[in-house]
Amino acid sequence: MAYDADVIIVGSGLAGLVAAAELVEARRKIILVDQESERFLGGQAFWSFGGIFLVDSPEQRRMRIRDSYELALQDWMGTAAFDRDEDHWPRKWAEAYVSFAAGEKGPWLRERGIRFFPVVGWAERGGGNAVGHGNSVPRFHVTWGTGPGVVAPFAARVQEGARQGLVKFKFRHRVDQLMQTNGVVDGISGALLAPSEVERGFKSSRDIVGEFELKAPAVIVASGGIGANHDLVRQNWPRRLGAAPKRMITGVPDHVDGRMLAITEAAGGTMINRDRMWHYVEGIRNWNPIWTDHAIRILPGPSSLWLDARGKRLPVPLYPGFDTLATLRYIMSTGFDYSWFVLNQRIIAKEFALSGSEQNPDLTGKSWRKVIERARKGVPGPVRAFMDKGEDFIIERELPALVARMNKLSGDDLLTSEGVEREIRARDRQVDNPFCKDAQITAIRGARHYLGDKLIRTAPLHKLLDPAAGPLIAVRLNILTRKTLGGLQTDLDSRVLGADGSPVPGLFAAGEVAGFGGGGVHGYSALEGTFLGGCIFSGRAAGRAAAKAVL
Ligand SMILES: Cc1cc2nc3c(=O)[nH]c(=O)nc-3n(C[C@H](O)[C@H](O)[C@H](O)COP(=O)(O)OP(=O)(O)OC[C@H]3O[C@@H](n4cnc5c(N)ncnc54)[C@H](O)[C@@H]3O)c2cc1C
Repeated sequence: MAYDADVIIVGSGLAGLVAAAELVEARRKIILVDQESERFLGGQAFWSFGGIFLVDSPEQRRMRIRDSYELALQDWMGTAAFDRDEDHWPRKWAEAYVSFAAGEKGPWLRERGIRFFPVVGWAERGGGNAVGHGNSVPRFHVTWGTGPGVVAPFAARVQEGARQGLVKFKFRHRVDQLMQTNGVVDGISGALLAPSEVERGFKSSRDIVGEFELKAPAVIVASGGIGANHDLVRQNWPRRLGAAPKRMITGVPDHVDGRMLAITEAAGGTMINRDRMWHYVEGIRNWNPIWTDHAIRILPGPSSLWLDARGKRLPVPLYPGFDTLATLRYIMSTGFDYSWFVLNQRIIAKEFALSGSEQNPDLTGKSWRKVIERARKGVPGPVRAFMDKGEDFIIERELPALVARMNKLSGDDLLTSEGVEREIRARDRQVDNPFCKDAQITAIRGARHYLGDKLIRTAPLHKLLDPAAGPLIAVRLNILTRKTLGGLQTDLDSRVLGADGSPVPGLFAAGEVAGFGGGGVHGYSALEGTFLGGCIFSGRAAGRAAAKAVL
């Protein structure tokens, strides 16, 4: 049979690019297919904050963080809580991935030119239990250059491969089917989409101008998750998190449509853990949207007071940045799909970061001058823009006026000024109490013991109603869809497994579509910074295994 290439890769996001870079290194001929135009190269990773999970890294050691493989594995397993028969491969991927993160990952990425911001972030601080969810230590390494800095080295290798005649790009090719001969996946077919001039990240047309068919002895599916497809999110919504939210906003571009999952299942691949997902509870509507219903996630420091729709403080230990899915479950149990941060100017200046490369021009532009300005000048520019123009932000000097506007914004009229004041004053009273029974205040004190938090993430402890701390701020927090934790079941070579557990010949999968490895390397929940790394690790495995398979 005449093949068009040795390997076809569906998806030019991070996982597809990493797989392609490995295949270039192995001197294989590749066709890289994507439904979007060349401008979208890098997929979601381009927009990402570039946070990467590393264990016992030089950056951690410099910040006096003592980490180890054993501690990280304990945290991972406590967070994943694997408990299903189908967790066989996810568990193996988890062990391999934590070992990668504690060993080869840092040096391998540095060898490719990736560098990290020296202050390591502390994401998902956990459920307050040593064996349960959360990071015992800071592990979130922000890439210098954020998402584009992660994508660039792999894109450059693949583009060099194209110059050498090893890589052909086929943009605006939408795959609708995986082709098979005698049970072996050996090609793709689909629709040729009309050329598109839209800028990166914007919704592009799905107008069809033709058809195509391409053949190769191996196909790698690297098509991303389902986050922009709210129908699929709702259809697979886990009952353990309550009813699916009526209103969600979207944390991923429109191309994260999940179509390839059913297409791969039709070719014999098995999707597992479809009810495992990672959506955020601190979503704000972007005042300057790129994709449909564009949501930005606040990466919060620990000091904001978190109130539910009725103005009741969230239960212990649901503090900002501690346990995303437990917070989501609680919010859904209230019968409303939003909650509130109440804070002040002093807290927002130090503690609000926004996820996304375009929201962090200092780090994305690799500008030390701007980074220093951000630390010195109070509220960062992108956060200020949301305070001025974001529909979810309310700023007032007096609490009654703040609460009146909160009621107006939600339209639910559930809050009373007295109720909100009672919560705030009860909390503020504990600030003066050295025996303090408020666990959030104890957590803030704990965070300030970490140099990184003290420097740039946690405001000194103070009373929320202290007039010197600036005006009061309320932020309506919406549910934001983002990551798909389940996916195509794969073995450690990223081979897609069929219903009987054996590989579907010729078929590989990597990145979010494969649950970042195995069909769900995270289990039920995540430690953060683990998604880009999962794309890199599974993309590399797929590239290496496909290179061997087509020898
Ligand atoms: C704003 C934002 C911030 C983030 N921050 C972080 C972070 O700090 N740390 C972290 O670890 N993770 C982060 N993530 C998550 C991470 O970026 C993604 O999980 C990851 O990049 C997914 O990569 P992927 O290659 O699997 O898929 P994608 O990037 O979604 O790429 C898939 C590609 O496949 C193409 N495709 C899909 N279906 C078809 C089809 N049928 N035919 C042809 N082409 C198709 C798509 O057009 C797309 O280009 C963030 C994500 C976002 C959006």
